Amino acid sequence: MKIRENEIVAAVTNMRGDIVAHSITPLLEPHPPALVSRVAEVHRAVSAERAITGIGIGVGGAVHKRRSVISASFLGWRDVPLADLVESATGAPTLVENDVVALCEYEDWFGAAREDDRFAVITLGIGTGFGLVVNGQPIVNEDYGIGLVGHWPMDPTGPFCDQGHRGCAAALLNSDAIARYATEVFGTQTSFDEAVQSAAEGHPGALRIVEHAAQGLGILIAAVCNLTLPERIIIAGEGVRLADIGWHSLLRSIRDHRSPRAHMPPIDLASGDNVEWARGAAVLAIQAFALGRFSGI
Ligand SMILES: [Zn+2]
Repeated sequence: MKIRENEIVAAVTNMRGDIVAHSITPLLEPHPPALVSRVAEVHRAVSAERAITGIGIGVGGAVHKRRSVISASFLGWRDVPLADLVESATGAPTLVENDVVALCEYEDWFGAAREDDRFAVITLGIGTGFGLVVNGQPIVNEDYGIGLVGHWPMDPTGPFCDQGHRGCAAALLNSDAIARYATEVFGTQTSFDEAVQSAAEGHPGALRIVEHAAQGLGILIAAVCNLTLPERIIIAGEGVRLADIGWHSLLRSIRDHRSPRAHMPPIDLASGDNVEWARGAAVLAIQAFALGRFSGI
């Protein structure tokens, strides 16, 4: 399951990480007890159809040892022992992890990067996420999940983010920023999806916004490539269409910020479907089962 601000996205997978069923449940009340009872409802519904071996939960925040959410600002949470609470409510072994780390685990075990020793995942949506996996291990510490890459500097002449940075990742890539610029261009309230759809249809104003975003993303990817030497870059999340539509601007920007002698690693675009996040969370449970770590619960 992936916890979003106003819904729980759930996917049932087999042991190979293939999705066999999925659902979306509205989340009206993000307080932990209310969320746990919704999670238990989802678990009851899917358990009626098939046996569930374990639950993995992905959340956009900092997580301690796959058990407790240290902080998740979009939910207003601090120190929530979510795995324990869900285990008590469902009786199913449960693991919790930062959602980008969970996505990295899927890509490492079953996805595009399963043959790679070192790869990076960049997620686009309401914020920008970054995950690096080296020899099967996501590189994390207790600061991971507080949004370390969300304000990466990209364009010193760009627009301001809400924290006063000029041209940072939040100002160029966040879906609410894109919607705001498109609203200015069109003179009418425009959503992120409408903005990228207009760009895809060739509207010059929308295309300029998306290409500017893609150039900024190229600067981040060039830095990731220069500093971590990945064998693959995977772009995922709801905002993946920015990279798709702005593809040529993205590649040009990466090249402009790297040595001409540097190799370009393959760049994969995920589908951007929200169910991908839930599938990543399911992989936490698959791994724990496969590695025999559920026995103590
Ligand atoms: Zn910023």
